[in-house]
Amino acid sequence: MRNPLINQPVTEHPSKVTRLKVRSAVTLLIAVCLSMALIVVWEAWSSRQYRLHDKEVAMSNLAQTLASQAQASIKQADTLLYALVDRLEHEGVDDHRLPLLLNAQRAELSQIHGLFVFDENGKWLANSNGAGQTGVNNSDREYFIFHRDNPSRGPHIGPSIKSRSSGEWILTVSRRVNHPDGSFAGVALATIYLSHFLQLYDSIDMGDDGVISLVADNATIILRRPFKESEIGTSIAKSPLFTELLPKGDAGTATIVSTIDGVERVLGYRRVESYPLIAFAALNKDEILDSWRKETLFSVGIVSVLLAFLGVLGRRLIKLMQRQNRVQAELLQTQGKLIESNRNLEGLALEDALTGLANRRQLDLFIDAELGRARRHGSDLALLMLDVDHFKAYNDCYGHLTGDDCLRQVSAIITANIERPGDLAARFGGEEFAVVLPGTDYVGAFLVAEKIRKAVQDAAIAHSDSPLGVITVSLGISACGTDTQIEAQALIGAADKALYVAKTSGRNMSVIAN
Ligand code: GH3
Ligand code: MG
Ligand code: MG
Repeated sequence: MRNPLINQPVTEHPSKVTRLKVRSAVTLLIAVCLSMALIVVWEAWSSRQYRLHDKEVAMSNLAQTLASQAQASIKQADTLLYALVDRLEHEGVDDHRLPLLLNAQRAELSQIHGLFVFDENGKWLANSNGAGQTGVNNSDREYFIFHRDNPSRGPHIGPSIKSRSSGEWILTVSRRVNHPDGSFAGVALATIYLSHFLQLYDSIDMGDDGVISLVADNATIILRRPFKESEIGTSIAKSPLFTELLPKGDAGTATIVSTIDGVERVLGYRRVESYPLIAFAALNKDEILDSWRKETLFSVGIVSVLLAFLGVLGRRLIKLMQRQNRVQAELLQTQGKLIESNRNLEGLALEDALTGLANRRQLDLFIDAELGRARRHGSDLALLMLDVDHFKAYNDCYGHLTGDDCLRQVSAIITANIERPGDLAARFGGEEFAVVLPGTDYVGAFLVAEKIRKAVQDAAIAHSDSPLGVITVSLGISACGTDTQIEAQALIGAADKALYVAKTSGRNMSVIAN
């Protein structure tokens, strides 16, 4: 039976909230770590791109400067050649004056190693470097063969060579000399010290593995810093510079792998104006990125330490939260147990131990509460008082324990015969019981009383010392009726009196109070 005086406590389970908190903390931690890692990666990437771009710009500017310097140096020599060719074609060769003139002109320009004139057979006609050398034949030289077989009047820049006269590395600039009929009359040649260029190139900081180079249009190396004799005259026709870049434009930047040494470099290049030459400058990409690598490693190290620190802290925090969660769950469990014990205690305090019905205390509280409600709503309230007939004799005959059993059976019959959930059956004391019937008048209460009485008799609990041979009960009935101000005691007293009347009138009957 539901006990109307015991409330169900409502408690909210906090572990769900804590689990949510833990999950949020984990998500936040992961998000922070990921963001930091992403920032470092992005920062490293953009700094790498910036460095490469910066060097590309520097190499482009340097190539421009180198091209201008080469153009200016060659132009000076070529201007002399142009005037010399003009003079040879119009005034012919003056064996005495020509060497002196060449020598004087050579002395004007420090970069010029020598000025030479050859006839159509390659024989030296004159040179600026002393008369003793005449008679040497240079018809096997590249520049000679070029002009002999090529009618063009423009300047020609041949592969760098080692001078036959001085043994020094030189760059050749040459022009064709024609007979008046336009046929080949010989070659005018100016030679420029490679050291003139190398001095400048060596003064430029190109790192440990940077390259500065002058390359002819036909892809042969005229000059390369660092200087290696074996590389002079080598063809780099297969380099991306010639296969991809120069066909697209006369100047630019790129990152390419050298066909000479296989090193990847950041390169700036430019065609030399008016001459079939290309100047380029290139820095080793690994060298460019060396300091970047160190910086990136350093920041990755710092961020890793930070992330590790954050991870440890986060783990500790999450563990703490989980522990808190566990403690809370334990507390909750304990609270549940306490509530349960309280409820049991409360139940014990309000329940009759023998029959499980409400005890006297609960009955009093219930009658008070229901009387108050009846007063407020003007509703009915009835009370039955029930007493087992000849129970002392029953105890004497069957023993006290059988008596207890009988009381339990009677209380079960009472409970089974009150149907409304608002009704309350209680043990009043000894072998006396009370039934409170809210919203019920005398007539209704009498019907319930009779039902109980008949049910007890029909249960046929043997009682040899009773007139009918079975256990019977007597009932007294009271109700508040129109008297809304009636007190609990008066209600009980009235039912008790009616019960007394039932007893004195022969027992096993229900009597309504006056
Ligand atoms: P009457 O018909 O007039 O009611 O007679 P009675 O013998 O029932 O009435 P009485 O008041 O003289 O006796 C009540 C007996 O009920 C006395 C007591 O031994 C017995 N009794 C009271 N409480 C208990 C109990 O918890 N268990 C048992 N077994 N007997 C009880
Ligand atoms: Mg009694
Ligand atoms: Mg009795």
